[in-house]
Amino acid sequence: MNGRAAPSGVISSWDLSIGVDGPGTRFVVFTGGCPLRCLYCQNPETWRMRDGRRVTVDEVMAEAAKYRRFIEVAGGGVTISGGEPLLQPAFTGELLRRCRALGLHTALDTSGLLGARAGDALLADTGLVLLDVKSWDPATYRRVTGGPVEPTLRFARRLAELGRPTWVRFVLVPGLTDDPGNVEGLARFVAGLGNVERVDVLPFHRLATAKYERLGLRFPLDGVEPPDQALLDRVHAQFRAHGVTSV
Ligand code: SF4
Repeated sequence: MNGRAAPSGVISSWDLSIGVDGPGTRFVVFTGGCPLRCLYCQNPETWRMRDGRRVTVDEVMAEAAKYRRFIEVAGGGVTISGGEPLLQPAFTGELLRRCRALGLHTALDTSGLLGARAGDALLADTGLVLLDVKSWDPATYRRVTGGPVEPTLRFARRLAELGRPTWVRFVLVPGLTDDPGNVEGLARFVAGLGNVERVDVLPFHRLATAKYERLGLRFPLDGVEPPDQALLDRVHAQFRAHGVTSV
């Protein structure tokens, strides 16, 4: 210890997940608070920090320790997700540092909007960045998220300069993010970075509709169908045409 009190932070929940939040079985911490409002958000309960609960880093680490053997055997690790983890960079950074010190693989799931708040030490403790690039076209990005795309692209370039392993995640929504030019721009950008190991094309779905109803909210995309296989194939092909691994 260096004499500093370990920071506390606000979380929405924690959970175990397989295959969607980084490699292997993951202990996932969903931090509270998010500055964006993505139309397809699956975690609206995380949006407002005041709806979360304050926990210490020690409490989170004690919970993670219960699963340590299991996630190690399963080739997994710990993922800090949200909400937006970089809204609480000291808390997130300390969690990543402590996990890393235990030899656990670490992942940070972020929109990149607040990437400037991630210090180089935090990024050095991050084994894998799951960078959610919600669109390439600035107008589409703003329509999807309510925010600007440029901070995310700036963060992506910084991760490339630092050589941090990154998976880009792109949610494919028919009629919203599927424009060929939007996908093409993202594919070209990702191909030029050099540190992106793969792009996860995540098919839009409506599984969170009931969550929205419980919160007294309407799911904004409740009339939108998931992408069909032909559209998924086209988008994968667009990424692969630039030499990008698309899964
Ligand atoms: S950035 Fe993530 S948590 Fe925030 S609104 Fe978008 S999908 Fe939801």
